[in-house]
Amino acid sequence: MPAFERLPTHEDCIAHLEAVRWPDGTPICPYCGSKNTAPNEKRHRCYDCRTGFSVTVGTIFHRTHLPLQKWFLAISLTLNAKKGLSALQLSREIQVNKNTGSRVATQIRKAMTQADHRDLLARVVEMDETNVGGKPRKGTKASNPDGRHPRGPGTK
Ligand SMILES: [Zn+2]
Repeated sequence: MPAFERLPTHEDCIAHLEAVRWPDGTPICPYCGSKNTAPNEKRHRCYDCRTGFSVTVGTIFHRTHLPLQKWFLAISLTLNAKKGLSALQLSREIQVNKNTGSRVATQIRKAMTQADHRDLLARVVEMDETNVGGKPRKGTKASNPDGRHPRGPGTK
C-alpha cells in the first residue's frame, strides 16, 4: 500500500517522518545536534540551544504548504519512475496545479543530488516495499515460490 494511503492525516505523516529521521526514538536538535530535548506541544524543544524545532527542519518538507501525503506520494512516484517523471505527470498524479507540481519535482530532484536528503527520502517511502512482505529479491521473480505477485510496472 502506498505510503500516503497508510498515513491519512498530517499527524501520521509527522510521526512517520520522526520514526524515519530518528530511528532510535530520540529527537535530535537540527540546530546544535543535541539529544537533550523534550516534546513541546506538537514540536520539540532543545534544552541546550533553547530552540523549538519540528522534524521537518532541514528537510524539503519544511515550511511547505503542500500536504505531506502529497510529498510522500510524489517522492515515491519519482523514485519508482524508471524512465523519469515529467513535472506535468507528477502534477496530475498528486493532483496539484502545474506550478506546484513543477516546484515539487524540482525540490525532489535537488534533494536527490545530496546524499543525506536522498537517504531520508528513500527511507520515507521505503514502507511501500516493506509492508508487502519484504523487499523483492533479485532473481526470484520468475519462480515466485511463495505465490506473491511480482510488483512493478504492468502488474496492476
Ligand atoms: Zn539545540
